[in-house]
Amino acid sequence: MGFKANARKKRNTASATAGPGKKEDEEYVGEIKCDVAGCENWSDKKVGGRKLAFDRAVDVWGESGLTKDSKRVTICKSCYRSWKKAKKDEPTEWT
Ligand SMILES: [Zn+2]
Repeated sequence: MGFKANARKKRNTASATAGPGKKEDEEYVGEIKCDVAGCENWSDKKVGGRKLAFDRAVDVWGESGLTKDSKRVTICKSCYRSWKKAKKDEPTEWT
């Protein structure tokens, strides 16, 4: 919740300097950031973001690889893809 307020503040400052409209075509500005640590993508529904149970995300990124510590995390499209891939490639046996 705190983050949302922050993002709004940030956007206001950005539009004040960049002027109306123009930049938004090039760079999508979303509201929800990907919860994977180090990932800068947006995870808004509009751009393919997905919600994932925290436990399932931890399987792939580990607790330190996630910036959020709630029951659900929101991840961007590309992180979701790598999550899916990791799950699929997960070996059932070690040898
Ligand atoms: Zn991501």
